[in-house]
Amino acid sequence: MDVLIKGGRVLDPGQDIDRTADVAFADGKVLHIDDNIVPDNAKTLIDATGKIVTPGLIDLHTHVYWGGTSIGIEADDIARRAGTTTFVDAGTAGPANFLGFRRHVIEHSRAKILAFLNISFAGIYAFSAKVMVGECDDIRLCDPAEVVRVARDHLDLAVGVKVRVGKIASGADAAPYGLARIAADELSLPVMTHLDLPPPTHADVVPTMKRGDILTHCFRPFPNAPIISERQIKTEVLAARQRGVIFDIGHGMGSFSYKTAEAMMNEGFMPDVISSDVHSLCVHGPAYDLLTTLSKFVCLGLPIADVIRAATVAPAAAINHPELGTLTPGTVGDASILACSEGRFDYVDSEGQSMTGHQKLTCDGVVIDGIWWPNDD
Ligand SMILES: [Zn+2]
Repeated sequence: MDVLIKGGRVLDPGQDIDRTADVAFADGKVLHIDDNIVPDNAKTLIDATGKIVTPGLIDLHTHVYWGGTSIGIEADDIARRAGTTTFVDAGTAGPANFLGFRRHVIEHSRAKILAFLNISFAGIYAFSAKVMVGECDDIRLCDPAEVVRVARDHLDLAVGVKVRVGKIASGADAAPYGLARIAADELSLPVMTHLDLPPPTHADVVPTMKRGDILTHCFRPFPNAPIISERQIKTEVLAARQRGVIFDIGHGMGSFSYKTAEAMMNEGFMPDVISSDVHSLCVHGPAYDLLTTLSKFVCLGLPIADVIRAATVAPAAAINHPELGTLTPGTVGDASILACSEGRFDYVDSEGQSMTGHQKLTCDGVVIDGIWWPNDD
């Protein structure tokens, strides 16, 4: 046994486990979960009494091409405070610079990194406080054949195709979505679609999204919110859920609104996946990281088991990596040890709206491939 976590509340929604138990890891994998595992030969013994032990959290929407792009942050800098063992990069790199992402960042990262490949050749190459040029602003940059070629060279890392359309990202052109669709269909991988300011609107892209595709920023503010009014969700959004389109939060700098979230949740429309869209312009607020985004949903009233599901088994399924996001024996040995504190905590959304919550999730440390990595902050 390499690591033994004792006495925690094991919360693994993918296996319907929510009980006090011990979790053992060996050879980089989950060994077993049991009521009382004798710690005889454990190299690292962790007392998790009063803590929550989850599968390693997966952040489905991040930007971690650090140094290669102005939007990128370093995954390992925030992995432990965020409880995140897998960062899924949402199209920071395109076909032109994916090899550098792999060689210079992913291969050196302790936290796992998987990636959606951007339909735009250079990825998100000009996203900063000073310079903001949409990577889909010039349609010549969007070449599906190049995306297919590079994705096929990196199928161990590539999980789908990312496209950003909207006034900011594509100069109001919806055509890049159609090109991403062509590449993704050729690869049999999902498209992750971002909508910013209109045009285009949901009606321009959502009706052709397929089962397994991901609509990120799904609770974004007006304009281009998924609702028409407080009581009325857009019909194309409801139809997409029926078809099996995956709705992902992608908090970010400008893409998550309490007003939208409350209206959607009041109508019974919960997100499938909760992700942070953490990048260089929101890592110091309002998004901060995955765990802060999850805490907001706990405070919005989503049961904690549902919150953890949306950051474990749900994103694992969305990227077709069932060996992640679970503590099933024999799967990848990743786990997060969380604490849930009670008190008064202020949380701000992307519109600057404040909410006082009574719970806050923090992380004591993570296990990655069966090795304990404590949070020393
Ligand atoms: Zn993003």
